[in-house]
Amino acid sequence: MEYFKMNNGVEMPMAGIGVFMMSPQEAEDSVASALESGVRMIDTANGYMNESGTGRGIRKSGVAREDIFLVTKLWPTVYEKETAIDETLARLGTDYIDLLFLHQPTDNWREGYKNIEKAYKEGKVKAIGLSNFPEDLLQEAIDTMEIKPQMVQVEAHPYFPQTELKKMLAETGMGLMAWYPLGHGDKTLMAQPVFTELAEKYGKSNAQIILRWHIQSGDVIFPGSKNPAHIRDNFDIFDFKLTDEDMAKIAEVDNGRRYYEASPELIAQYAKMELQPDL
Ligand code: NAD
Repeated sequence: MEYFKMNNGVEMPMAGIGVFMMSPQEAEDSVASALESGVRMIDTANGYMNESGTGRGIRKSGVAREDIFLVTKLWPTVYEKETAIDETLARLGTDYIDLLFLHQPTDNWREGYKNIEKAYKEGKVKAIGLSNFPEDLLQEAIDTMEIKPQMVQVEAHPYFPQTELKKMLAETGMGLMAWYPLGHGDKTLMAQPVFTELAEKYGKSNAQIILRWHIQSGDVIFPGSKNPAHIRDNFDIFDFKLTDEDMAKIAEVDNGRRYYEASPELIAQYAKMELQPDL
């Protein structure tokens, strides 16, 4: 495993698993299977409504809490709620979160940030992040907040490697967690000839080549999967290294395509989306 060291000294594994679009039971099974395969970083969110299942998966695996790096995200409708973080901890069945994000840049994000800063000072949260924030708001957080954010979480994959944002992150010492690292399973992306060619060269799968490219680009990855064989493969990327020439060939796949576009209307909808009970 390789680790990313944050600007506050906290280290996180560079590969883990995400549980977006999984039912609580699926999240439980996926998390338990991942931990049994050696994965030690898990990404969930209030908004996925599977934090309880994630917590059950952790306990089912028998892996000690202190050996796991647990990431979750506050949803906008609870940014201002004083008990939001305690309720998140209760759903997960833990007394601290390794990395807590604000999930979306809704108008009330500054109040949400104060809430997670307070939890950070109380030791309930070990690191703070901003997910899906545009660069101007990231800069505002860096300039005005008492505790600077440590991580961003954004869409990133070979079609859209976030080249501009990475320049800003390099200046501030912030790290990047890449969501949709495999293009949300887009077969067209995964079947690009360069990945097939490099998969043959290294005796790996196309997905493993993409994930290794992320690691060497400095991205923390947490691909989603309910398939135990894929979960194991996605983690088995630390025994080979792409050359500079391989990395340059993969860079040519960048075509600026994103799968997700935030619009003001969508952000306004998020601000109103109530969470359902997470059982
Ligand atoms: P992904 O790019 O990780 O792709 C997942 C898809 O790829 C699934 O269909 C899966 O079956 C397939 N897959 C996984 N491993 C494979 C392999 N080895 N070979 C072939 N196919 C494989 O997309 P994702 O799961 O949607 O995103 C990853 C994580 O990012 C999520 O689980 C979630 O935690 C996070 N996320 C965060 C945000 C955000 O707003 N912060 C948004 C979306 C996703």
